[in-house]
Amino acid sequence: MRYIFENENSKKEAPKETDYSKYIKWMYSVLRRSEEIGKIELPISSIILDERGRCIGRGVNKRNINKDPLGHAEIMALRQASLIKNDWRFNDCIIITNLEPCTMCASALIQARMGKVIFGAYDKKRGGFGGSIDLSTHKSSHHKMEIAGGILEDECSQILQLWFKKLRTQK
Ligand SMILES: [Zn+2]
Repeated sequence: MRYIFENENSKKEAPKETDYSKYIKWMYSVLRRSEEIGKIELPISSIILDERGRCIGRGVNKRNINKDPLGHAEIMALRQASLIKNDWRFNDCIIITNLEPCTMCASALIQARMGKVIFGAYDKKRGGFGGSIDLSTHKSSHHKMEIAGGILEDECSQILQLWFKKLRTQK
């Protein structure tokens, strides 16, 4: 039986060696923006870089501000970047975000054919790229994606832990 879509992930290939240190400065910029939005929302922020390493999209969590269940940082960044790119495909692009994308955002990134996903803290409850489930290797994922979690993990976890701690003391 032939399937309509081949699953690229099933063709096991050795992962390419990538130097992630060049993304650290971007992660610091993501953290700064997270801290800023953390005054009103859960501190999550994302940026998208194009094939030349230029930032083409930024997004912060705006669930409460916009009263929007889809208002996650990754979705906001994707919407901005697709306008700038004038395309919905992101095969050559990279998204950098401080928390592991949830299952909704992981699916959106798969639909957008995002080439590379870089995140800081793992989300064991809702993470869609390994924390709770890894959708990038699921047979429904129809393109090859590179996932790198744990970049500046301590800093990324700390900002979220502090936010929740503050929330608890306010109650
Ligand atoms: Zn999300």
